[in-house]
Amino acid sequence: MLTCKEFLSELSDFLDEKTDREIRTKLESHISECPNCFVICDTTKKTISVYKGMKSCTIPDEVHQRLMAAVERKIASKNEIASKNELASKNELASKNEQASRKG
Ligand SMILES: [Zn+2]
Repeated sequence: MLTCKEFLSELSDFLDEKTDREIRTKLESHISECPNCFVICDTTKKTISVYKGMKSCTIPDEVHQRLMAAVERKIASKNEIASKNELASKNELASKNEQASRKG
């Protein structure tokens, strides 16, 4: 029987069906006896099939515009907060300076 390490090193070829029949048989017998590798193999297979099943799709214009508007609002509100913070710290600094100069 193969070790798990050997199994994993052959896994991607196995899933691509590139392995020799002899190795393939060994790999298959490994999965049938090793639950860990079975799960790894099964999960990887499913992931690949999901990935292959995905098609790039275009989103409708309306959705795109709404999305962009939402992103812009988000950015704008972030900038607003940032500039408020900046302003606040400037004011703080200014009032400190003022206090210092009054003392002076
Ligand atoms: Zn194993």
